[in-house]
Amino acid sequence: MSNVYGSLINGEWDNSGVQTPNINPSDISKTLGHMASATPVQVSDAVAAARAAQPGWEAVKLEEKKNILHAIGQELIDRCDEIGKILSSEEGKPFAEGRGETFRAGEFYQYYAAECLRQIGESAASVRPGINIEISREAIGVAGLITPWNFPIAIAAWKMGPALAYGNTVVLKPSEVTPATAHLLAEVLNKHLPRGVFNMVQGGGDVGAALSSGKIDAVSFTGSVSTGRKIAKAAIENMARIQCEMGSKNPIVIMDNADMNIAVDQSLHGAFGASGQKCTASSRLIVHEKVHDEFVEKLAKAAEAKKVGHALSEGTELGPVVSETQMNKILGYMDIAKEEGGELITGGTRLERDTEGYYLAPTIYTRTKNDMRVNREEIFGPMTCVQKVSSYEEGLEIANDTEFGLAASIITNNLKEAEHYKRNARYGSVLVNLATAGLDYHVPFGGRNSSSYGPREQGMHAKDFYTIMKTAYTNPG
Ligand code: NAD
Repeated sequence: MSNVYGSLINGEWDNSGVQTPNINPSDISKTLGHMASATPVQVSDAVAAARAAQPGWEAVKLEEKKNILHAIGQELIDRCDEIGKILSSEEGKPFAEGRGETFRAGEFYQYYAAECLRQIGESAASVRPGINIEISREAIGVAGLITPWNFPIAIAAWKMGPALAYGNTVVLKPSEVTPATAHLLAEVLNKHLPRGVFNMVQGGGDVGAALSSGKIDAVSFTGSVSTGRKIAKAAIENMARIQCEMGSKNPIVIMDNADMNIAVDQSLHGAFGASGQKCTASSRLIVHEKVHDEFVEKLAKAAEAKKVGHALSEGTELGPVVSETQMNKILGYMDIAKEEGGELITGGTRLERDTEGYYLAPTIYTRTKNDMRVNREEIFGPMTCVQKVSSYEEGLEIANDTEFGLAASIITNNLKEAEHYKRNARYGSVLVNLATAGLDYHVPFGGRNSSSYGPREQGMHAKDFYTIMKTAYTNPG
């Protein structure tokens, strides 16, 4: 019997929608199950269920909320092998990463469990003698959460943790590419939360569009810039609050004084971790001419040593990319790099393995310029492009010459350069002697320009999105 991944509305599963197969990218002869797409009526039923459950959830005692979120986190941590295996099977990241992401999702819930207790307001002096002013925060209501496939459990967790902690109810629309992970997550949430507090509608862009134009109070979206634009336009019609986290072209500037081991290790991790399918992937390597050749040679050697294979095979370091569409898009960018005058140093091809899957070799292009499409558009695959510069100033200028602004790194042993870069790189996260990918979960995350719209996610600053302020005046008489 094939698994069916349907929608969860007011605590009940509904598998009645049109079904599409969920293919294993490591072995495309295998179908993991079928996703049943929600209808527009199911989407509005899910929103209505969340609406009905919201006042009750907001009124739940803080400690009880804390205990529930903690238990959700603990169950994800306890089941990270089982859930991580399904995640890796449908998304393609190596099992260690699938397991690690599930564990991290558990940590998000536990972090926000503690945040349930940190609901602290402010008091202000009034300009009118004898009047007291209190500033407090309340839930915004129903949050629609729309998530991508590349971190199918962690992104849902970093949105849902604060949404629930601050008293909101939720309708999640996970990516149509990773419905099985979403299904397992929903089973866990449904076990611990009161009916209607968490609802999920499965499906693609049409289901996401129905949710973002529905009667919700806020929409938090992670995905591509083009989708973010559509969601923001739809949500503003209802004056819903909007938060969009989107793509980027993250640079690492590698200086002539850099520790070469750090430069190579961090670039390797940043460019090829999760097969480059990270919004924080290091896709532009901006290298000082004095160390350019040595760096490229060492990075190519390290990339060639990476074991590309089935996500669940022992020793796999890079899994397949997530889908045929994604693979063809990345292969297309490899052709564009060549046409634009880039020099292929390693990779550039699809790979054959024991099972037929969407395997791509880690790919490096040199002799690229910042105005080439491969340095301006998000590729979202195991491919990185090197640019040569002759000074720190030129490196910084190129790093900032982009429509995006999520994360930027510099590899340097020069304190002055490091401090200048931290202040002047126009990005949401700036890193020194670290890759652009791999960020902590208890501090704000987000970008600038086209990478982000609205308040930051994660850490205690997430409350700026998931709460609304109230200013109360009292005349004690
Ligand atoms: P995508 O934009 O194609 O889809 C994201 C989600 O939006 C999916 O659930 C999809 O079904 C839904 N969707 C599609 N069209 C919609 C519409 N018209 N209305 C409402 N919902 C719609 O992105 P993807 O391919 O799933 O993910 C990859 C993208 O996500 C990359 O651009 C990556 O950079 C970005 N991303 C950003 C972050 C971040 O935090 N900045 C993190 C991870 C991924």
